[in-house]
Amino acid sequence: MRKNLVVAIDGYSSCGKSTLAKALAKKLGFIYIDSGAMYRAVTLYFLRNKIDMNDHEVVKDALQHIELNFHARDYQSHITLNGEEVSEEIRKMPVSEAVSPVSAIKEVRREMVKQQQRMGRSKNMVMDGRDIGTAVFPDAQVKFFMTADPKIRAERRYKEMVAKGDTDITLEEVFENLAHRDYADTTREESPLTRAEDAIILDNTELTEEEQLTFALEKVRPFLPA
Ligand code: C5P
Repeated sequence: MRKNLVVAIDGYSSCGKSTLAKALAKKLGFIYIDSGAMYRAVTLYFLRNKIDMNDHEVVKDALQHIELNFHARDYQSHITLNGEEVSEEIRKMPVSEAVSPVSAIKEVRREMVKQQQRMGRSKNMVMDGRDIGTAVFPDAQVKFFMTADPKIRAERRYKEMVAKGDTDITLEEVFENLAHRDYADTTREESPLTRAEDAIILDNTELTEEEQLTFALEKVRPFLPA
């Protein structure tokens, strides 16, 4: 039995996993790790350096030159790639469009999972992603599997991007990107997105952020030290 408490949150793209994960971590005083940001940062490195994703040796070598670090600032996840703050750039369309094939590469997954497991060795944490409850922390005490209506997800994500000043995208593009990523993430060979048997399903189509936090806190509470 692990001594530190791990809450694993998996689910489809743009289901609000990170919103819930951040809120939970803040409420519980846990560390929050956004594993998707790691795959996105690797993708950014691959795009910038024109890494041939089909060449396993090139990929392995590239991974040796990537250093990722998280900097928690008020529970917003900030990530640096070789010392450069890339949190905004990794959320833009070029990275969103390329991240699924990069995250399907065996060598990439092995390296990311190794780093994630190291981060979760001793501290209480909430980690969100696609394989946290199945591959990274199969022994996590609490697991959630999040889902929501695809149209609602696309609308939420689109509004979020526009609010950040990303005005050259359309709702249709966002919808297509989510559908494409869900398909790629659930059908890939290496640890595809799937619900862990012991994961609690959380469909937030009709839930407010407050309501989903209350629901999740109720599930975590029994595991908190008295
Ligand atoms: O969570 P986010 O949407 O930012 O993740 C971006 C992409 O990274 C996902 O579409 C998926 O391809 C990949 N990912 C993954 N495993 C994780 C987290 C993210 O494969 N644990």
